[in-house]
Amino acid sequence: MTARILALDHTGVLGGAELSMLDVVAGLGEDVRVRLFADGPFREALSARGADVRVLPMGALANVKKGSRVPSPRALAAAWRLAGEVAREAHSARVLYANSEKAFIVAALAAGRCHLPVVWHLRDLLGPPHFSALNTRGAVMLANWRASRVIANSRATADAFVAAGGDGGRVRVVHNGIAAASFDDVPAGAARALRAELSPNAAYVMAIFGRLHAWKGQQIAIDALAQLPADCHLWVVGAPLFGEDEFAAGLQSQAMRRGVSDRVKFLGFRHDIAPLMHACDVVVHASTLPEPFGRVLVEGMLAGRPVIAAAAGGVGEIITNGTTGVLVPPGDAAALARAVARLRAEPVRAAALASAGAVHARAAFSLEAMVRGVRAVLDEVAG
Ligand code: UDP
Repeated sequence: MTARILALDHTGVLGGAELSMLDVVAGLGEDVRVRLFADGPFREALSARGADVRVLPMGALANVKKGSRVPSPRALAAAWRLAGEVAREAHSARVLYANSEKAFIVAALAAGRCHLPVVWHLRDLLGPPHFSALNTRGAVMLANWRASRVIANSRATADAFVAAGGDGGRVRVVHNGIAAASFDDVPAGAARALRAELSPNAAYVMAIFGRLHAWKGQQIAIDALAQLPADCHLWVVGAPLFGEDEFAAGLQSQAMRRGVSDRVKFLGFRHDIAPLMHACDVVVHASTLPEPFGRVLVEGMLAGRPVIAAAAGGVGEIITNGTTGVLVPPGDAAALARAVARLRAEPVRAAALASAGAVHARAAFSLEAMVRGVRAVLDEVAG
């Protein structure tokens, strides 16, 4: 079968957008080929799943960041050259499917050359503070001109696109979906062993999952820990994926300064998220800026853990406060500490929230529904 879909992503690292695309690509099977603009673990993971994947290096386009002002002539030339390569790769395709903003810009430039429709899977909240105003204006103009459809990973993402001037008529909301099976298949013994290995002396473990970045709020979780009793520990799971090494080092110094370094475990990037979630007592999310979606929330719910999350962006579409989890104000370490202490003190309530969360996550954020939703949009556009 000739693949109808040419899927594009600019990065080789495994962020949430890429982990989600990995599942979409696996779901689309032989109907999709993937071209990345950088090599890395994402390419390896796609290959391991049997995807047709190759890297088309992006050169100077790599220097353009979300907050960038006007791109340099070298970056623009690199985007144009890459668009030519994508157009050549697209010979047998019927639709270009872009999974990131940079991939969308290149796809939009390529579309004029290969006369194919473009679908942009938008997984970011466009506009300040996440993106510069100039970056947002350029992307939205290009979307209104070239994107046949924009798939938004949450209502919040769709609203931000429209608020930035995007054409709402092209937007379809398809929530992220997560494979529940990998969270069901964790033997209790494995979780117990992990807990004993990582924090044998902890009576209570809170864990925060995600790439290390100031807006992901690991510093808030450390501040909250400092306000909790000494038998409460914290696991910080994730790595600085996009060059935030200084921030990561700062977290270690913060833990020292706050006198909690013996109670914080920095675990780096892990592939065993499901067992780790099963092994902790509460999953915390502490993003200081609105989150476009927040896969980690659904994962925590699927693992049967109570989840405390910072209420902004797409988070409210996943968790109902007091029913399927607990919401706290973003950036408020004291509120986070209070919420953790209360869950610890009220195990019956914690278990009820966790089990309602698990039921809801299974029903509302299934992998199958996400793949079906994305496929429907691509089919509609590809004809
Ligand atoms: N993740 C992972 N290993 C880590 C830390 C995080 O595999 O060490 C995964 C996490 O399980 C989730 C994703 O990275 O699936 C993060 O997605 P999310 O939507 O929460 O945030 P994003 O990275 O898209 O901003």
